[in-house]
Amino acid sequence: MNEADSENIAAAFRRRGYTLTEDLKKADAVVVNTCTVRQRAEDKAISQIGRLRKWKLAKPEGKLFIVGCAAQKLGEKEIKNRFPFVDEVVGAKAIEKFEDSLIAQLGPSPKSETTHQNLFRSPLTAYVTIMRGCSLKCSYCIVPAVRGPAVFLSAEAILEDAAAKIKAGAKEIVLLGQTVNAWRGAKTTFSELLSKVLALPGLQRLRFMSPHPLYFDDTFTALLAGNKKLARYMHLPVQSGSDRILKLMRRGYTRAQYLGLLEKLRGAAPGLAVSTDFIVGYPGETEEDFQETLSLIEEGRFSMAYCFKYSPRSDMSEMAATMSEPDIEARLEILLAAVKTNSRLVLNERIGKIEEVLFETETYGRASGNFAVRVKARGTPGKMAEVLVAGADKNTLNGKVL
Ligand code: SAH
Ligand code: SF4
Repeated sequence: MNEADSENIAAAFRRRGYTLTEDLKKADAVVVNTCTVRQRAEDKAISQIGRLRKWKLAKPEGKLFIVGCAAQKLGEKEIKNRFPFVDEVVGAKAIEKFEDSLIAQLGPSPKSETTHQNLFRSPLTAYVTIMRGCSLKCSYCIVPAVRGPAVFLSAEAILEDAAAKIKAGAKEIVLLGQTVNAWRGAKTTFSELLSKVLALPGLQRLRFMSPHPLYFDDTFTALLAGNKKLARYMHLPVQSGSDRILKLMRRGYTRAQYLGLLEKLRGAAPGLAVSTDFIVGYPGETEEDFQETLSLIEEGRFSMAYCFKYSPRSDMSEMAATMSEPDIEARLEILLAAVKTNSRLVLNERIGKIEEVLFETETYGRASGNFAVRVKARGTPGKMAEVLVAGADKNTLNGKVL
């Protein structure tokens, strides 16, 4: 979501004739897009702002914008108190209004824009935000507080955005939202929206992130089974393998329900790759709870997992960590090692199989299951091709274009 917001902000600058630079000395404006999902992210944002004091001193006419979730959480007053050299603070709830405050600061009227620029992933991939905020209440999570309740963009706006990005060169669209499959329009379901995006001419592959286990239905599984342009990949955060912890987290599903869903999705799309998120050291997590998380890694056959140490957020003080930092750290190490071993097994299962690969260069692309794929030659940038997988090395498959 933050990457997508950053791209929209960069586009607002481009419309005013600005170009992007990695060289701070050359910059006339700096935007720090902050995250606060874990304390570490917020701390990083704060120290980044601190480091910009030097830039502002050397270039007093330069404009410094602090935007996003940490800006929302801390508030304009606190940020400007601590960092008086900051020009503008735009919290995550007002991020779409960023252009308005830009106009106040930077003047000239916008040009229309025809280019799409992916700043973080492949140039073939474009993000399309379909919802903002979140209306669930997972106990550990600050997102609903800083981004507000779920708001769905209209089907028309989404299709227009996706079509414009395809026209500007995107081959793969990633629909974004915190509970992306909870999306619904005035007269449109999530699956109907997917069908409409899938029908856009020029689109080669559709992904979405992150779905929540509570919002899948049979129309979705039918669509997944019937349309190969819908990626054979899902990032489906589970958080824990223990029913007791899942309940405390208010995730709304049990381990068995989650695994049942995986079975159903894989029944519709054999070979579906699934990645996930885990939180380790949730308050009260026992060794037994942790063992259940470990065993879920294998049972879920996850291709990849992000593992996070539980980070207490300040407005949920009753949820302070109950484990010592070294104990959480030790569990994290074990979890990471288990994920790594399992990922290798899952990757090796692909050897001898055929993968649909969207090529970014002649020798590199991404499989439908989101695996990185290398070939010696014969890939065409921007085109899909079948690759017979011959081997796997670290996180990458290699093989031959058929
Ligand atoms: N909406 C997505 C998750 C968005 S937050 C979903 O519900 O699936 C991204 C990830 O950050 C989460 O999946 C979770 O694993 C992690 N996370 C969120 N809050 C956290 C916290 N307080 N401590 C540690 N990890 C956290
Ligand atoms: Fe946070 Fe995701 Fe839960 Fe929403 S669904 S509260 S974003 S973890």
